[in-house]
Amino acid sequence: AFVRDDRNTPILSVNDLKFGYNGVDVLKGISFDVMPGEVFAILGHNGCGKTTLLKNIIGLLKPSGKGMVLLDRTDVKDINVEDAAKTVGFLFQNPDNMLFAETVLEEVMFGPDNLGLQNSKERSMKAIEEVGLIDRINEYPRYLSNGEKLRLCIASILAMGPRLIILDEPTTGLDDNECGKLMEVVLKLKSEGVAIIMVTHDMNLVARYTEKVIVLSDGRIFKEGSPSDVLKDNDAMKAASLKSPPIIELSKECGCVYLTVEDFLEAII
Ligand code: ADP
Repeated sequence: AFVRDDRNTPILSVNDLKFGYNGVDVLKGISFDVMPGEVFAILGHNGCGKTTLLKNIIGLLKPSGKGMVLLDRTDVKDINVEDAAKTVGFLFQNPDNMLFAETVLEEVMFGPDNLGLQNSKERSMKAIEEVGLIDRINEYPRYLSNGEKLRLCIASILAMGPRLIILDEPTTGLDDNECGKLMEVVLKLKSEGVAIIMVTHDMNLVARYTEKVIVLSDGRIFKEGSPSDVLKDNDAMKAASLKSPPIIELSKECGCVYLTVEDFLEAII
């Protein structure tokens, strides 16, 4: 039998993607790959086209011209909604819009039930366990805290067994504690080979948890690289209307680049 190493095949491949609304170009030729187990950040100022890019990735919008999006090596325009949902999970900005069931368990089981997946309950319990809500399975979802709601939405996605998860500004409105819990889930998924794409303005998050970053500007990729490559690049930060974390500026003064205070202290002590 033919065996392939999935870890070396991009789970997402965006090739010369172009898109416009009513003749106004928003994406003018975007190309990048996301590998399994990669935590990938998309940066860019408001209105630069991040949401438009995400919608093209999940097939909600269709690219104009010859550009295309390959999801697990299949052109996304040839994938129906149910099959796409098995490969890629999308977390919208406001989790309240996604919650409608009476209990946490029912909420999570909805997806796998709807897709006709086997062992829906076992899958759902495992997903709830992964996000740390196992002691809340009988609770009414709307009574959970914001961070818990977000993790519940992630469990709902996980129960469908996706290989790519897209998070749009996931830490907006979360306190440090909830943010930490969310990122623990992200790291666990990463270790299982799930790829994660995050749109964010939170540079500490980028510095700490991502390994590949792109900056969009004027419909193109302005900069692509490791978090330190991107965060230390003043032009890239300016293009995204962002500021790099103070520790980067401080360590640059010392002729090096450290992404976190911990790394910096470890190096100088
Ligand atoms: P971002 O997510 O980076 O803030 P968007 O992808 O939402 O950017 O928007 C990119 C550009 O496309 C903006 O100029 C926005 O006004 C425009 N746009 C977004 N959605 C639509 C739409 N449905 N119809 C027309 N123009 C749109």
